[in-house]
Amino acid sequence: MVENDSHLSCIMYRILALAVLLLAPLTSFAAEELNLYSARHYDTDFSLYDRFTEETGVKVNLIEGGSDALIERILAEGELSPADILITVDAGRLWRAAQAGVFQSIDSPILDSRVPEYLRDSDNLWFGLSKRARVIVYRKSEGLTKPTRYEDLADPAYRDRVCMRSSSNIYNLSLLAGMIETAGSEAAMQWAQGVVQNFARPPQGNDTAQLRAVASGECGVTIANTYYLGRLMASSEAADKAVVAELGVVFPNQAGRGAHVNISGAGVTRYAPNKTAAIAFMEYLTSEFAQRLFAEGNNEYPVVGKATGPISQLGEFKEDQVNAAIFGRRQAEAVMIFDRAGWR
Ligand code: FE
Repeated sequence: MVENDSHLSCIMYRILALAVLLLAPLTSFAAEELNLYSARHYDTDFSLYDRFTEETGVKVNLIEGGSDALIERILAEGELSPADILITVDAGRLWRAAQAGVFQSIDSPILDSRVPEYLRDSDNLWFGLSKRARVIVYRKSEGLTKPTRYEDLADPAYRDRVCMRSSSNIYNLSLLAGMIETAGSEAAMQWAQGVVQNFARPPQGNDTAQLRAVASGECGVTIANTYYLGRLMASSEAADKAVVAELGVVFPNQAGRGAHVNISGAGVTRYAPNKTAAIAFMEYLTSEFAQRLFAEGNNEYPVVGKATGPISQLGEFKEDQVNAAIFGRRQAEAVMIFDRAGWR
């Protein structure tokens, strides 16, 4: 009897020890950390991370860098990479990262229900977290016919009046990729050639530089992402206010396919050491509180809910709902067309 009892307690002890071992990965969640590789550098992001830590006990370690540098770093680190999540901008870049094997597919009914299908990867490798529209901006005092479609910028009516960013820029590559998808390569080529004919100057500078050139009269019309407008609208500098006063904004193709929309987004990395916490963080970023801060950090539109801040003054608009992954899939073709059209 005594022997039996000790035998039983020995078995019980082993079962208990096994249970502790098996449960350890689950119970360690509270003490977990999360390593975030982010190409975003906004102050609002810090309050986002702090709130997540308060809610879950998971500490967020931030590694900041340029998009391409972070992708290279994750690839170089390979299986030993401490990265759990990569946050970057433009679906074209998220697609490149996915192609290079940076992400893993995750299963989250919350993300599936909150992020519209056209703003995420079909294999759940990455998800859009905020949106920006690429809009036409014109000089109000110039008296040009107001363009209403991207196609209009190839019209001879705008000869020597169009300023554009370089074709190597991912925003223009994604815009052209979307056009190839909806209108075909031939039409996309004609458009690029027509716009090049209308250039007021060789492509140079970022979107803000284009907006300033339009305001100064160096050119009459350009294309820019809405958050560059938002930044100028939020500025208290007199020079920025003067620029904004000169600019008219058009959400293009409202009678047709809608304005080109791109995303900031993120995915869980292939070898994420903290996958459970990483998925919880991705879900948290689509919560109402996080969406507002995430979008406001860069004057973007949230993917869940409505715009706040200066860009809300631009009003509502129809979005082109072509899947964002197309911007990546058509990227090589877009590079070729820009090249042939002489858009440097
Ligand atoms: Fe930008």
